[in-house]
Amino acid sequence: MPASSKARNAKSALKAKPPAEAFGVYVHWPFCVSKCPYCDFNSHVREGVEQTRWRDALLRELDHAASEAPDRKVTSIFFGGGTPSLMPPDTVGAVIERVQTLWPSSNEVEITLEANPSSVEASRFAALAQVGVNRLSLGVQALDDDALKFLGRAHDQSEALAAIDIARKHFARYSFDLIYGRPNHTVEAWREELTRALALAGDHLSLYQLTIERGTRFHTDHAKGLFTLPDEDTQAALYETTQELLGAAGMPAYEISNHAKPGQESRHNLVYWRYQDYVGIGPGAHGRFTSHAGKRATRRHSGPEAWLDAVEHHGHGTAEAHNVDRAEMLREALLMGLRLSEGIERQRFAAMIGRDLVEAVGNEKLQPLIAGGLLELTATHLRATAHGRQVLNAVLARLVD
Ligand code: SF4
Repeated sequence: MPASSKARNAKSALKAKPPAEAFGVYVHWPFCVSKCPYCDFNSHVREGVEQTRWRDALLRELDHAASEAPDRKVTSIFFGGGTPSLMPPDTVGAVIERVQTLWPSSNEVEITLEANPSSVEASRFAALAQVGVNRLSLGVQALDDDALKFLGRAHDQSEALAAIDIARKHFARYSFDLIYGRPNHTVEAWREELTRALALAGDHLSLYQLTIERGTRFHTDHAKGLFTLPDEDTQAALYETTQELLGAAGMPAYEISNHAKPGQESRHNLVYWRYQDYVGIGPGAHGRFTSHAGKRATRRHSGPEAWLDAVEHHGHGTAEAHNVDRAEMLREALLMGLRLSEGIERQRFAAMIGRDLVEAVGNEKLQPLIAGGLLELTATHLRATAHGRQVLNAVLARLVD
């Protein structure tokens, strides 16, 4: 970044004290056994991983993150990926221990790890629970062998069922993901699959609509016409069926794709959606945290080898860091907060950005969306209505320049 824009950013950044609210630590493990054809995450397949080097580098970058965002109380740790269930449990334990040495933790710190349901990984669940993981998020994706094959998953349905069973034994809180809106997916088939999922679920489910992302194999295959997705009406009916069944089961959506029993929401993911503070370590990890100079945004190198090399030479793998100005803060708070059914808390927003939300967005932008039944403004919150959340990209396009 040129010096002049650095100075401009520093000047426009808001001065703020670190807030005494939730604070999360995100740890990215970038490796997977194979690349799923729909996946655009920062995930890589490697023949071998030098485990000691990787553990040492994660610990070193944690030290650096604590120097950037000191004096905070950690409320959640999240191991994401990639496939963090491929991490040796000892490494997971060492990371947890280091986090708790660097920052005090709340008594009820939520420690989530994303896992795939292969039998090899499921055999590690007991050890992961032992080193402190207290919430598991399983990438089940479908309860149907043909669908799992189409999605390029490395497990079948029986492995998924066994993994859910093992997760239930070792973790008081567990969640699993399913993907719907697959080719030829019908409302009847989804209703049946979701009913079975609800019988297996704990207190949280993540239900994603299949989207075709650039740079993935599905993007190429879809462009070639090798498969088609259900039409818009079917997609809408699948979404509505999801809301209906999960609502009736007492697990309403608290975010577009995430459902939980009240009080069982992912506390870590709420940190992102509420635009609270977190640090991110590991390849490609992002951070947003309040420093003496205002809100900071950090991004680590994405490539696993580039990140490892940078940490070993400089103590951190930061590729980019800047102060977040008001306009960016507004944009990010809207993108994140309107995903939540609770919406954006106006008082918190005003304390963060120094302006009322209505004034910051502009009444002329808000009113047509409110009149159209897509947004709802109360004395305390701005939120997207159920219909607004279904077409959130279009709503955001009209709010955010
Ligand atoms: S296991 Fe998860 S992170 Fe890895 S390629 Fe598949 S979807 Fe992506």
